[in-house]
Amino acid sequence: MIAKELVEWYRQNKRELPFRLTKDPYSVWVSEIMAQQTRIDTMLPYYDRWMKQFPNIQACAEADENSVLKAWEGLGYYRRVKMLWAGSKMIMSEFDGVFPKDYHDIKKIPGIGEYTAAAISSIAFDQPIAAVDGNVLRVIGRVLMMDRDIAKDTTKKYVAELLNQWMIGSDPSDFTQGLMELGTLICKVPTPECPRCPIKDHCLAYKSGMQSEYPVKSSSKKPGIEFYFVHIVLDDNQLLVSNDWSDGLMEGYIRLPQTDRDNTCFEVEESLFTTKHVFSHKIWNLSVVKSKLKEGADHPDYWKWIPLTEADAQPWISAHRKILFEYLKKSDFSSL
Ligand code: SF4
Repeated sequence: MIAKELVEWYRQNKRELPFRLTKDPYSVWVSEIMAQQTRIDTMLPYYDRWMKQFPNIQACAEADENSVLKAWEGLGYYRRVKMLWAGSKMIMSEFDGVFPKDYHDIKKIPGIGEYTAAAISSIAFDQPIAAVDGNVLRVIGRVLMMDRDIAKDTTKKYVAELLNQWMIGSDPSDFTQGLMELGTLICKVPTPECPRCPIKDHCLAYKSGMQSEYPVKSSSKKPGIEFYFVHIVLDDNQLLVSNDWSDGLMEGYIRLPQTDRDNTCFEVEESLFTTKHVFSHKIWNLSVVKSKLKEGADHPDYWKWIPLTEADAQPWISAHRKILFEYLKKSDFSSL
């Protein structure tokens, strides 16, 4: 019953999104990967540009690394694009360029876990395999007044098994997207809009007025705060950049040299401004300084000079692109 009401509501109320006009598994894959940790209205222009530039698996697999990184620049969580690229190459080599239909084969593709494999299986291939993300857990947590902790994998498994049953005899594609859409548009995080909800007659939290108590989630850790200097080093219109990815973040994207306080390679000439960059798990507090290299200091191999005129064309980590271009705008380099 829930499935029928949900699917009918979805068909009448769904947002018209470009990736919903097709069942092409590559398009569904790209949209699902982009939508992870990113709002739909933020990812849409990226999605449109991506699909124009890399319209199919082959185009993505044959692109060079710089192009795919550049196309993703600004979306964050850069491991996603590397996996998408690696996954396309794997489909070309292991599956003759044809996206596999089998759920277990889909899960072998780099960067595709249980959720994305289930989303592609149900949306693109109409298989009754439930995709369980935060939105879905919130809806089900409220509908059932579920006392299980939604942060636990065992709860995700429980909900997936339950939904697999609910999907039987339904349209898996519209069921999956309906549940996602309901979580995004109606059963929202702080305050659900229950009077508009198509499944309110089945919702225990609504009936008992306890929507704010659900879902149950163990408290997450506060992000840690880290302090760094970011150095802008210019010499004869050459800019010093860094390929140091030892912190595991955004590999492949260039940075400005970023150091802690006791770094001995730089001589700070001027303090410019401070800023911060917030990740899901940490916060960078950044002091931006104009520096020069200390004479005689050892320079790591991951630093290199690039012409300042080529800076804009490079794939940057967002925090440092913002810093560099804010500095250039305020200085004599605004025409670059
Ligand atoms: S009735 Fe309210 S709390 Fe229950 S599923 Fe619908 S929107 Fe969420």
